[in-house]
Amino acid sequence: MQIRADLHTHSIGEETFGPRAESLLARHLEAAVEVGLDCIAVSDHNDLRPGLLAREYAVRHGLPILVLPGMELTTQERVHLVAVGLEQQIEAWQPLADTIARIREVAAISVLPHPFFAHLRARTDVDAMERFNAQYGDFDLDGTLVAHVANSDSHSADDLRRSTHYTLIEVTTRSWDAVADAIRARRTTPV
Ligand SMILES: [Zn+2]
Ligand SMILES: [Zn+2]
Repeated sequence: MQIRADLHTHSIGEETFGPRAESLLARHLEAAVEVGLDCIAVSDHNDLRPGLLAREYAVRHGLPILVLPGMELTTQERVHLVAVGLEQQIEAWQPLADTIARIREVAAISVLPHPFFAHLRARTDVDAMERFNAQYGDFDLDGTLVAHVANSDSHSADDLRRSTHYTLIEVTTRSWDAVADAIRARRTTPV
């Protein structure tokens, strides 16, 4: 079966994690369910806490969506890198290649978001790359050897509602393991 996934979203936007986080991520997840997503990565900037809380919130409220905790990491080169499926925080501001390796070590998935430069689009060590990003547009991934994805990069529930982008993922079950396997096998269609 195919599920609709958004692998790069920010639940607390530009805010820092605090008392408002739960209500912000609750609105974020409600919007995700409303627009018909089956799976969402909550990948706030350099902080895994919103992602972990979002997953716990979805389970506690019986929301019909698979929440994958993640982070959008800023690397030493100032290049962004999204990690999906984390259980523990990964250190930001490290070299890009080391960060990609670290994500692989902990069996998470690396997604290169908004790949503005050709040298980034030529990388083969990430698991996936954004073909479409609802905030930054389209990227020409001709010849890319990694999975192609489309994400909202939403910083609010309203962004999520406005986004027309998502990724279809061919899976056997709606689970983190199935999603990770499918991305590694490039069974993704960016929409
Ligand atoms: Zn970014
Ligand atoms: Zn982002």
